[in-house]
This record gives sequence, C-alpha cells and structure tokens, in this order.
Amino acid sequence: MLDGGHQRPLFSSMSKPRRFYLISLGCPKNLVDSEGIATLLRHAGYTAAATPEEADMLIVNTCGFIAPAREESLAVLRELAQVKRPGQRLIAAGCYSQRCPHELAEAVPGIDGLIGTRRWMDIVTLVKQLPHPVGEGRGRGFPSLVGEDRGEVVPAVPRVAVQGASAYLKLADGCRRSCAFCAIPLIKGPAVSRPPEAILSDARWLAERGVREIVLIAQDTTDYGHDLGMREGLADLLERLTAELPQVEWIRLMYAYPGRVTERLIETMARHPQILPYLDIPLQHAHPDVLRRMRRPADIEGVRRTIRRLRAAMPDIAIRTTFLVGYPGETEAEFGVLLDFVAEMKFDRVGVFTYSHEEGTPAARLEDDVPPEVKEERRERLMEIQQRISLAKNQALVGRMLDVLIEGQGEGLSVGRSYRDAPEIDGLVLVQAELPVGEIVPVRITAALEYDLIGNLSSPPRPLPPGDHP
Ligand code: SF4
Repeated sequence: MLDGGHQRPLFSSMSKPRRFYLISLGCPKNLVDSEGIATLLRHAGYTAAATPEEADMLIVNTCGFIAPAREESLAVLRELAQVKRPGQRLIAAGCYSQRCPHELAEAVPGIDGLIGTRRWMDIVTLVKQLPHPVGEGRGRGFPSLVGEDRGEVVPAVPRVAVQGASAYLKLADGCRRSCAFCAIPLIKGPAVSRPPEAILSDARWLAERGVREIVLIAQDTTDYGHDLGMREGLADLLERLTAELPQVEWIRLMYAYPGRVTERLIETMARHPQILPYLDIPLQHAHPDVLRRMRRPADIEGVRRTIRRLRAAMPDIAIRTTFLVGYPGETEAEFGVLLDFVAEMKFDRVGVFTYSHEEGTPAARLEDDVPPEVKEERRERLMEIQQRISLAKNQALVGRMLDVLIEGQGEGLSVGRSYRDAPEIDGLVLVQAELPVGEIVPVRITAALEYDLIGNLSSPPRPLPPGDHP
C-alpha cells in the first residue's frame, strides 16, 4: 500500500477529499509506476487510505508478465470486487490491463476502470471519467485508457519507489530485445530511456530524503541511453551519479543483458566504491542451441569471459542470475549442460523459473513439449546444486565483516542486507542486537545458512568499499 499526502477535494461538489487504496503487484518496475500513480493522485487532491474499507477508490497495479502473476492479479481484483461497498470504485492498472483489457474486464465484472502500463500518467484523467456520482457501478461510461504511450512528456514526478533507506530508481521503460519467450516488449513497447538529467534529479531527491541505497532498474539497464544516442550510457550515468551524489553510499545495478556488460562498465563499477560489487545478469540458459531457440545471445564462452573479467576486477563481486527451464525442445542433454554450467560458474544467487507459453510471443508458436512434472523436476535439480554452492559461499564468509543496511529490528534482533543482497530477491543478514533502522553498520559474520547469514555488531568503524574485509 502506498502513502497519501495533502488534501484537496477532487470534485467541487464533494465536501471531503477522496481517498485511494493502492496495491502494487509484480516487480520493482511496477512498484515505481505505482508510486507515480500515487504521487499524481496526491497532486490532484486525493489522499491515501489506510485500509480498503476507508477508500473511495481501490487501485490494483497488476502484473501480467507470466500466468502465475496474472492469476494473482485476478485473485486480488476479485477479492476487492467482492467486498467493494456501494460507492467504491475499482481500477485495474498495470501490465495485465495493458495486455488483456477485455479478458480482465470480463473476468472481474466489478472493475470500474482500466488503465494500462503505458498510460499510468493519465490516472487522474481516468478517475475523472469514472461513473459519477460514486456508486453507480459500471455503466455506459466505463473508462479504459490502454494502448500506446501518449507521446507526451511524462509529468514531473520522481520515477522512484522508496522502501525505508533503500529506493528503486527507474532508468528506462520497455525493451528492444526480442527474447522469444518474453511478453515484455508486447506489453511495454521498445525501450525509452529517461534523460540523464531527470535521473540525476530523482537521485538528488532521494539523497535529500536520506536514502542510503539506490537500486537502478530497467528491463535492461545495460541498454540505457541507446535510444538517446549514447554508446556507453550506463557507464556515463554511473560516472555522473557517483560524482554528483557522493553521499549515497550504495548504488546497485539490476538486470544486465549478457553481451552488454562492457569493459568500460566493469572498470567504472570497480573504480567507484559507491557502486556495489553486485550484478544481476539474467542468462536464461547455458546451452547455445536453447539460447538460439530463445533468440538470446548464444555465445556462452563470451559469458564465461565476462564473468571472469568481473571477478578479476572485483574479487568479492556477488553475481546473480536467472534461468528458464523446460523451454520448448529442451532435451535432458541440453539441461545437463545447464547443470554443469551452474556447478562450474558458482554464481552467488540463482533464480529458476519453469517455462510456460505466453500468448503472442514467438515461443508460443512452438510445441510446449516438456511435461510439467519434468519442468518442475529440472527446476528442483538446478536449485539443489545452487543451494550447495550458496551454502558454501555463505560459510566462507563466517569470521569476516560485512557492511549491513539495517531494515528492521525487535526482540533483540535486527535484520538487514549486505552488498550481496538485492532487496526482496536475495538473502538477509540477521544481527544479534537491536540496531537503528536505516543505518549501515559493520557486522562480523558468525554463522551461515543456505541463503542468509547471522552475525554480531562489530566494533571497528565502517570501512569502504562496501564488502567484506579480513
Ligand atoms: S531482455 Fe528481458 S525484458 Fe527484454 S525481451 Fe528479453 S527477457 Fe524480455
């Protein structure tokens, strides 16, 4: 749920300000759009409600990326539609609305308005088109703003989502790659980078609010600036961020595309202590034939070289990746190559998804010929290998010191993250002390679990660069 702000009536005939309750589903990129929606509503005079019951308007920013995410979106919308009281309006926003507006409207008859992910900036326009007076339900005026971008300048709201002392900052929206299994280009369109000045302005805004960690996101961060004519857009942007915002201790990079992690980017990451030695490179597979069928870069030797270079430049770097198993035609031998690759590369973090057809994608025209139980079994086998690697890597950290950003505390314990842990997807560090939330503290690691670490507050002052220390 997102917060509200100042109060001003939306309709002159109404005596009290309208209130919204917003649920954000899916990925951090969607969360940033949710914050944009909330900010625009606040500017238009709405306030946030603490519970759905108190709201005049219920908004669900849906995820439509894969089938389980769509099911979750449907479940949340149906639940709200069922408990919706007379006078409340229900809006479905986000990727699912963009991708399948008719399906969504039919599946949840209680929806009063639809707005797609490429029109989130028109939320106030949509709200003004909702049936009025409130409570009339879906009528002739059922508004739907779905489709292409308006081609206008996005209103000046920060493209960020703040969560405690950490914040996501969006660099671009959309993707110009053509991975055969992925619906993102269909939903979001080609990549559109934000001007560097707008990103720097948002980063300054975050720094002024005491944010300690900025997580840079886009569908493909390494493609940043290509549409603006920049050759090394991400490296250039990192240079400016570090130069202009020395007070932000942690800058984290997500979603790098294989083959686009350049020498210049590696050198820039290694040279600036503020840029965390962490990189998320979704690889999807390791067998060249599967990668070719996926329409992904198939140069797996090139991937090995990139990872060697990253580790040579930043010996403590934590590398995260994601794999997709059970892709059409994936043989046991091809899967075996992936298993060997994971055992060899010893990634710090691995996420594994099972393939499912996404309507409209090139892969959906292939036969989905790997049975569901085989997909699941492959996922489990891959995760088993990775769990052993993850535990061994964590055990190697026992006795060493890590800087930890504290995010919660109580009952004698604190919980936080080190540079090795991106918010929400990676592990945690449990510290045996109640420490101030939002502080970065030095922690001596005393025990290791498969994904998480346990430690004690260490007395020496916090050294830089962030990372482990002997
Ligand atoms: S790079 Fe990522 S977002 Fe872009 S098409 Fe491929 S999987 Fe989808």
